[in-house]
Amino acid sequence: MVREGILVVISGFAGTGKGTVVKKLVESYDNYALSVSMTTRNPRPGEVEGKSYFFVDKETFEKKIQEDGFIEHACYCENYYGTPRAYVEQQMQEGKDVILEIEIQGALQIKKMFPNALLLFMMAPSAKVLHERLVGRGTETPEVVAKRMKRASEEAAGIENYDFILINDEVDKCVQQARNVIESAHLTPGRNIKFIEKTREDLQGISKGE
Ligand code: 5GP
Repeated sequence: MVREGILVVISGFAGTGKGTVVKKLVESYDNYALSVSMTTRNPRPGEVEGKSYFFVDKETFEKKIQEDGFIEHACYCENYYGTPRAYVEQQMQEGKDVILEIEIQGALQIKKMFPNALLLFMMAPSAKVLHERLVGRGTETPEVVAKRMKRASEEAAGIENYDFILINDEVDKCVQQARNVIESAHLTPGRNIKFIEKTREDLQGISKGE
């Protein structure tokens, strides 16, 4: 049985701790690869070019859209974000599950184009906890926090489009939840069509005495 790579989309409101969970997930298991997005937003303190994001200007981003260099892209809080195509395709060919930490518009584009993608939506235990975390992070101005809370309430309308929710109450538990869901997804019939068809053929052959 050949294990085929799955595209795993992880979305969630800003402040749910997606970044921490995803980082730990990728570090803990070597069959996952994390896609690094391209964005036109400014780097935050501590962010590293090529690791956190590829930070580019608007012209560079738009050129890459025209070259079909993204598997999805979206505008979020007045900045562009996109998933570069080349890395994802290369990692999937190597049988890795590629993790995309992206927002909902991009997630829906992915689901349309890659029906076998697995869509996970990370939530905080409550809206109140979410707001406290976002303010406590201290990296955003009150205006940006307000914008992101508004955006969270818009995104909340789309959660039913996802396959599973993850609740980030404790990081390690949430990593384990994500791991369990991804590993289970590998066992759905729709993601094992080749293996199932091969088994059917072999069964027929054996029953005919070949
Ligand atoms: P932040 O500015 O906080 O790093 O990210 C803002 C939002 O953009 C987050 O919800 C994040 O998951 C999302 N995002 C990051 N990279 C991409 C991407 O390549 N495509 C899309 N559609 N969203 C992204």
